[in-house]
Parts: sequence; structure tokens; C-alpha cells
Amino acid sequence: MKVFDEIESEVMSYARAFPRVFNKAQGEYLYDEDGTQYLDFLAGAGTLNYGHNNPVFKQALLDYIQADGITHGLDLHTKAKREFLETFYEKILKPRNYNYVMQFTGPTGTNAVEAAMKIARKYKGRENIISFTNGFHGCSMGALSATGNSHHRGGAGVSMNGVTRMPYEGYLGDDIDTTAYLDKVLSDSSSGVDHPAAVLVETVQGEGGINAASAEWLRNLQSVCKKHDVLLIVDDIQAGCGRTGSYFSFEEFDIQPDIVTLSKSLSGYGLPFAVVLMRPELDQWKPGEHNGTFRGNNLAFVTARAAIEHYWSDDKFAKEVLRKGDYIGERLEKIVEKYGDGNMTTRGRGMFRGLNCVSGDLAGQITREAFKNGLVIETSGADDHVVKTLCPLTISDENLKRALDIVEAAVEKVLKGTEVPEERDFFADDSGETGDKKAELAGAA
Ligand code: PLP
Repeated sequence: MKVFDEIESEVMSYARAFPRVFNKAQGEYLYDEDGTQYLDFLAGAGTLNYGHNNPVFKQALLDYIQADGITHGLDLHTKAKREFLETFYEKILKPRNYNYVMQFTGPTGTNAVEAAMKIARKYKGRENIISFTNGFHGCSMGALSATGNSHHRGGAGVSMNGVTRMPYEGYLGDDIDTTAYLDKVLSDSSSGVDHPAAVLVETVQGEGGINAASAEWLRNLQSVCKKHDVLLIVDDIQAGCGRTGSYFSFEEFDIQPDIVTLSKSLSGYGLPFAVVLMRPELDQWKPGEHNGTFRGNNLAFVTARAAIEHYWSDDKFAKEVLRKGDYIGERLEKIVEKYGDGNMTTRGRGMFRGLNCVSGDLAGQITREAFKNGLVIETSGADDHVVKTLCPLTISDENLKRALDIVEAAVEKVLKGTEVPEERDFFADDSGETGDKKAELAGAA
């Protein structure tokens, strides 16, 4: 670890939780330099919905590179961009009857959020934006002002203005509809809250602890926005691209945001790529006004198109995500019933789920224990108290079961002190033999 300790900035975070040098990955597997195999329940924090090095996109990418396709193109028209736009329109927007134009922003989620906030302010001629408790929207200044977490906000060094925080669903208890509070505040000229340009919301708060808003709350939120002439921005950077069981996390709720941000799994391959979708009349940008050298990641256009063609041409994949999501939900429920102390609960929907351990210390012990047994799994939430099950959506049933067995054994050990027997090999195949596959892939690593 010498060079990392000596040269790399202290800002690194995931590397502290998983102190190995990784050098190979395929599907839901990660391998370290020694050839040790891990199941990946971190999945690039939601970037690897289709797994590592998905063979379908890899071939498309290799063919493109081999043919000297454009890699970097600023915002020039390219064949790769045209084909991506055509596919996105045909397979995603048109079947859903969504009328959006697409802005290519700098390739990170936070830059898409910056752009969404800027265009909302510009269009409405108002500064204030409403965001929510436990919301996470990125760490560049504009997006950070909408992010709740004090650890991230603390890094800014300046005050962050232009955003008012409102309670997310459930923040004030299960019985209180926080959209009614928002309505009240926006109706009252003496509430002290400036009339906002937009409301910025995640349908499932990923970094904030897998808080999944209900259909009713989101519909009410949309009504409040309409009533007060405020734009609705859904930040679908983590919840989108299939994680909840539909391409957009809001589509089954019958709401239609004015603006949507997408990134993370959009490229399908872990390549940096981010966009803003907006109703055409909101597109008031002057040429180059929200600029960026890396707005045209053509390699990402190629893999994003392949991902949509392959997984989103019909509803098979979405159904699979829902089926696996139900399984994860059931397994987590059983863990809570069996080992929970009355406080532990499950959270989330689709394959965006978590185990709320209430205590960050407990959640940390569980993820560390799971890592010892070959599962890379992280926590989220204000106190890192939620164990976040964020595997590739393409994971096999067998590996999903294996990974949840590891989580269960970790919970059992941490809460009941039950040691995992030395001989228990979570990676053994059905015949009980320690995976040949492990040895084989390790050899190739
Ligand atoms: N928005 C949401 C909902 C996110 O989950 C994240 C990252 O986790 C971001 C924005 C920021 O994306 P990035 O880390 O690519 O800047």
C-alpha cells in the first residue's frame, strides 16, 4: 500500500474500507492482485448496473476503438452521438411518451446537477431551490449546496446559499405528509422561504440511507410544484437506469418531472457520462453557456447505446430486476426477523435496498465482517448506519443468494457472536467443492 499511503491524497474513502489492490473484474466479481475473488455489492456506487466489463458492450467498444472511432469530440456531431441519441429516443423516450431534449454536461453526476439547477434558475428568474434532508446531489459547489450531509458540506469552506432544505418523506415521522408543510411554506409570504425556481429530489435517497419515497408523496410533491409554478427536478443519477426496476425511477408513479439528471449507469460500462433531460421550452441556454471539455465522451455513447439496445428493447430485464429485488427484500426481512433487536429495518425498492442497522458502528462491523468472507459492501446514511445492497442488476441468482448468505452470516456473527465455521466456503459450488472458477479466474488475473 506504500505508494497509495505516500502519494495519494487523504481524500480517498472507499479504499480505506477495502484495503486491497484490485486489478480485474467481470460481471459481479472483483479480483485483487493476489487473485482473491470478491462479490461486488458496491458496484461503483450504482455505476455498474450491468456488471463489470459486460461482454456485449465490451465488444462494441473494442470494435469502435479498433476502427479509430472518435474518442473525444467536445460537442461536435459524431456518428456515435447520433446513434446514441436515436436509440435513446426510440427505446427510452418514445415508448414512455416523454418529450425531453438532452443536454450533454461534463461527465460527472454533480455537473449534471449543476446544469439542472442553473437552467431552472435561468428559466424561472429565481434563485432559490428546494432540496431535501438527507439528499445527496454531488460535491461541486452548486450541487453541494443542495446536498444535506454535513461531512461533505464541511469541505466547502464557504457558505452555500440559494437552497432551502425541506423534510423528506418520513423525516418528521410516518404520519406527517411533509409535502403539506412545503405547500404551507410556499403559500405563506411570511414563511421566510423565497419562492423557488425548482424542487430537486431523489425518488430513493441513495447516499442518504436508501430512503424510498412513496408514490403518493411524489405525486403530492408534483402537485405542490405545479400549484406554486415551481419546476420539479428528479435527480435520477443513482436510482435511474434500471436500479428500481424501471428505466426511470419515477415512471411507475405517474409523475413527469420537468428536468431529470442521469449519470452513473448511463454509459453501462463505468465510463464517465452525464446528461440533463428537460422539457424543450426550458432549454434556454445560449451556445456554450454551460460548457465543458469532456461533454462528448464518445466511448460512453457507444456503450450506452449498446446497453439500451440490449437491456431496454423490451420489458424482460425490468421484470428480472423486480424479481431479484423482491428476493433481496425477502432475505433482508428474514434477517431482521431473525436477528433484529426491534430497531433494525429494511429499506428501498427494486434492487435499491438496504438494511437499516440504526447504528453506524453496527453497520460498519457487518460490512467489515462480510468483506472478510468475500463481499464488497458499503454503508450509507447520515451515520453510515444502513448496509447498502447495491449489486449489479445482472447478478446471477446463485451469486445473489451467496452474497445475501454472507450478509446474513455477518449479521449473525456481529449480533449473536456466532462464528462462521472455518470450513464454510461461500464460494463453493453446489457440490460443495471450493470453486474451480475462483482458481481459474485467479490464474488469469
Ligand atoms: N446525485 C446523486 C443522486 C448521487 O447519488 C450522486 C453520487 O453518488 C451524485 C448526484 C453525484 O454524482 P458524481 O459523484 O458522479 O458527481
